[in-house]
Amino acid sequence: MLASSQKTLIFLLKTIANSYCRAAVVSSRFRPLLRKASQKQIQEGISSHALSYLNLKQKTTQSTMETIQKQTGAAFTLKAGDKLKVIDPMGEQVSDMVLFNAEDTREKISSGKTLDFENTILITKGHHLWSNRSRKMMEILEDTNGRNDFLLAPCSPETFQIIYNNHEYHPSCFENLYSNLAQFGITPDDIPTAFNIFMNVQFASNGELSVDPPTSKAGDYVLLEAKIDLIVGLTACSAEQSNNYSFKPIQYEIIRAGNENS
Ligand SMILES: [Zn+2]
Repeated sequence: MLASSQKTLIFLLKTIANSYCRAAVVSSRFRPLLRKASQKQIQEGISSHALSYLNLKQKTTQSTMETIQKQTGAAFTLKAGDKLKVIDPMGEQVSDMVLFNAEDTREKISSGKTLDFENTILITKGHHLWSNRSRKMMEILEDTNGRNDFLLAPCSPETFQIIYNNHEYHPSCFENLYSNLAQFGITPDDIPTAFNIFMNVQFASNGELSVDPPTSKAGDYVLLEAKIDLIVGLTACSAEQSNNYSFKPIQYEIIRAGNENS
């Protein structure tokens, strides 16, 4: 006969072992989700179970409409075949988008390659967005407005100092992109020229550029399909001139592959 204290000890050890096994199963099941956890969340010491729940909730809600508040940004992942709908809910609002290969973030969206291979500077429905490694990253399936820019860099603190002579702090697409993409190990120097959805940049025959009010109306959208697994950065642009001097939100919807009808 075992002494009751020994029985208690064995019971406790079995309980701990069972908990450990369950935790391991849960951990492996949610590993892909955990991979998405931001360093900030990890550093804040949120337990792995709570983190799994939060990420599962985020993954679920990403199938519905998300709103990027004015002068802010977001970052998320897409699998090949997933579709992304970027919507201008109020009209005349630009959204900067950058793309990275989810498997190797040194591969990213390239303005030069895209303009070269598509043989135009007006990128819209039917065109692809290409990477610096000359691979297709996205296809534009629909574009209800039809005017986007792929010439100008994301607005940055220096944009407001140099063009607007504003030396105070000013929100910018550049900051909103790199701060949201930091969770994927992407640094400010990694941010390429963005595909500027709804941005209306006009050009004269002598090459002079002008940034005009967007032609997008409330509800206009661009629908894109991922051709490879992607990390996406998306903003509601913060530059006065680009948005007809009024900052508005941007909405987006992720339609997961094979889930179009849900
Ligand atoms: Zn901007």
